[in-house]
Amino acid sequence: MYDLLIKNTKLVRPNQTSVEVADIAISGGEVQRVAPSIPVEEAKEVHDAKGLLAFPGLVDGHMHVGIYSPLAEDAITESKAAAMGGVTSAITYFRTGEYYLNKGGAYKDFYPEVLDISKGKYWVDYAYHLAPINRAHIDEMPMLLNDFGVSSFKIFMFYGGHGLHGKSDQQHNFLKLEGDEKYDFAHFEFIMRKLSEMIEANPQQAPYISLSLHCEVADILNAYTSMVQRDGKLKGLHAYNAARPPHSEGLAVFIASYLAHETSCANINLLHLTSRKALEAALMMRDLFPHINFRREVTIGHLLLDTDEPNGVLAKVNPPIRPRADVEFLWEKVLSGDVDWVVSDHACCSTEMKYNADHPDDIWMAKSGFGGTEYMLSGLHSEGSKRGLSLNRMAELVCWNPAQRYGLLSKGDIAEGYDADIVLFDPNESFVVRAAESESNQGYTPFEGHELTGKVKATFVRGNMVYENGKILGEAMGQYLLRPMEKHNH
Ligand SMILES: [Zn+2]
Repeated sequence: MYDLLIKNTKLVRPNQTSVEVADIAISGGEVQRVAPSIPVEEAKEVHDAKGLLAFPGLVDGHMHVGIYSPLAEDAITESKAAAMGGVTSAITYFRTGEYYLNKGGAYKDFYPEVLDISKGKYWVDYAYHLAPINRAHIDEMPMLLNDFGVSSFKIFMFYGGHGLHGKSDQQHNFLKLEGDEKYDFAHFEFIMRKLSEMIEANPQQAPYISLSLHCEVADILNAYTSMVQRDGKLKGLHAYNAARPPHSEGLAVFIASYLAHETSCANINLLHLTSRKALEAALMMRDLFPHINFRREVTIGHLLLDTDEPNGVLAKVNPPIRPRADVEFLWEKVLSGDVDWVVSDHACCSTEMKYNADHPDDIWMAKSGFGGTEYMLSGLHSEGSKRGLSLNRMAELVCWNPAQRYGLLSKGDIAEGYDADIVLFDPNESFVVRAAESESNQGYTPFEGHELTGKVKATFVRGNMVYENGKILGEAMGQYLLRPMEKHNH
């Protein structure tokens, strides 16, 4: 007897070219069988999907749970938001320094605390990418892989000389660096050398060990921010776009790629590319350095919003929201297969924190980042299907590709031996985004008022229904994912 049988789905699998009618039989949290017409007598429980699409649970490969609110609270509300959006694996970028746990120190002390706080708080499965901020952290990278299953690391290229929300001369304090430590290109090089050693030393795990980079350079941001502020003509998102110009992204992509070449650092993820210049730079680097396995990421925010967005400061994020021409270029490259995955870059930044109440329209005083994991599949489907993006390709962009890169080998597909992470999705139901209807604690959304076509109706994590028709169900049963994980064998 199966534990659960989901009847009458239209199955959307990655690496396929069509959608098939199928039933999904589940036991022990895993998919046991996928076939048409599995008899209901063979299962203890039956859920009729009534012809809805069944996507694999989404792997949101770029989140920031616990950045602006205590992790213990954020993990609850933001993982519920994830479940609403069909996300079943949430991977958060975490680091020492200001925000998050607001402390420095060694990861051997810091990370167990992160895991301790996380335990029992997540409604979906979860993992963390970690950023080596000081020299000692670089030496801890193999320990983080071997003892804690952390196989992906991050560099924030602009942090050494530019603040999270704008210009700052406090970055040494922000990162809680000591003495003569610097967060600079040399530090990035040594992170890459370490990662390269780790890839070499662990041939079996090698494809799943990677380094992610936020590609912007501080010098350009500082100079252009001063110019735009002095000039004073541009406002809101237009000003922020000009203050962090696309060529800063392009330059950072060049620097990161050359360093990867120099250090033979084979697996590089270029995060949230926002502009034509950034993406073109990334494609030039792919052609120039074919021995580096690059991955190119875009966010749902950069695919849905542009600088004319009426929600203004609410959409402040790094790198910035760009003009429509850049947005359309991103879509072009999503369609041509040059973008590997789509993420939310979800960072719940509450209304009180987001902008200065006395200057609500002041983009410079606003904080960076916003949530959106709950709109990822609806947003991708809504705008993607208009442009001819197939359902199977969507499943690659938000399920399979990030799962494979980040070592979640039992995630990202619906087939025998995979975790029963399943999203039931109605491609015909339209809705208008209202922050008030979200489980997120953010209280607003820059997507407010957008009409999206395609709605998540139910989300299953390892066979447990955690969300259905607007309601979160049950208890927080998300598990920490040690990476790279092994695929189940039957
Ligand atoms: Zn981010």
